[in-house]
Amino acid sequence: MTTRSSILVLYTGGTIGMIQNAETGALQPFNFDKIYDQIPVLNRIGCDLKFHSFDPLIDSSNMHPDFWVKLVEIIDKEYHNYDGFVILHGSDTMAYTASALSFMLENLNKPVILTGSQLPLGMIRTDGRENFITAIEIAASKKNGLPIIPEVAIYFENKLLRGNRTSKMNAENFNAFFSGNYPPLAEVGVHIKYNSNYIRKANSKPLIIHTNLNNKVAILKLFPGISQMTVQAILKIPGLKAVILESFGAGNAPTDKWFLKELNDAIQDGIILVNVTQCKEGSVEIGKYETSMNLGKIGVIGGYDITTESAIAKLMYLLGNNFTLTKTKKLLQTSLRGELTI
Ligand code: ASP
Repeated sequence: MTTRSSILVLYTGGTIGMIQNAETGALQPFNFDKIYDQIPVLNRIGCDLKFHSFDPLIDSSNMHPDFWVKLVEIIDKEYHNYDGFVILHGSDTMAYTASALSFMLENLNKPVILTGSQLPLGMIRTDGRENFITAIEIAASKKNGLPIIPEVAIYFENKLLRGNRTSKMNAENFNAFFSGNYPPLAEVGVHIKYNSNYIRKANSKPLIIHTNLNNKVAILKLFPGISQMTVQAILKIPGLKAVILESFGAGNAPTDKWFLKELNDAIQDGIILVNVTQCKEGSVEIGKYETSMNLGKIGVIGGYDITTESAIAKLMYLLGNNFTLTKTKKLLQTSLRGELTI
């Protein structure tokens, strides 16, 4: 006899949980106690659902590392009570949350599936209903008694993507997320087709949670004409520990003497600089062009094909662990949760 999967749904806020107020027409969060009225088909979904709503519900633009800690603590507390977790989350910062959770949940062996929608559940043409139902189905799916997706992933439109590989790329299409450097974990049509070669392999180690995050990080996005003052203003932020240098193409940057000196001074001061490309696909290859060779020489770390969202989350996690500078730099160039390809 196969037992029904049990899924904990964590509702954080965002568009998905909105309905239109019948009188005013304004969008407002709906009461999850009424979810079965809203989506009656949930009665027939074949797994046991429990709901936890955050209070207050937030637009994900207000997402904060403290909230990630709350999510991780609930998952830790309920880890053995459920087969999988579905997190309903605004799409705006979903890629950041998915990345952060992937680092905070070490040895995760159960599905943590984030989803949301572009149109509220309470609207007739909503994409939320399908996203929600399929996310539950994926979180509940098992093969030989083991969860098929033992990792943090985002389900949106018809694709399941590794959480720490995604970026939001469209503000209005239902197909809102993109993973340029890693194939989908599953594609959904008539069937859910799992790409098992790309799905993380589970292990039998116990879950370890990491709840110390350090947000003394910044992003320095390059553009032609960037001034010394701008570069300086970022690199001289008091207490700064690490900066993502969002470079051009395969990791290229201006070769101006002042620019390299500012970066070098920061590195000498113990600030970690990680080179992440502004491109949505492809990898940083320090030394491929002359314009990146100097970055390597002064000690800028190549971030390979990591996304900016994932690099920010990884830095917060690594800095929060107080590893030595050498170890932090080494781990930045190591794939910890499948976030980069070397
Ligand atoms: N602003 C909303 C949010 O991220 C958009 C959405 O839910 O998709 O919370």
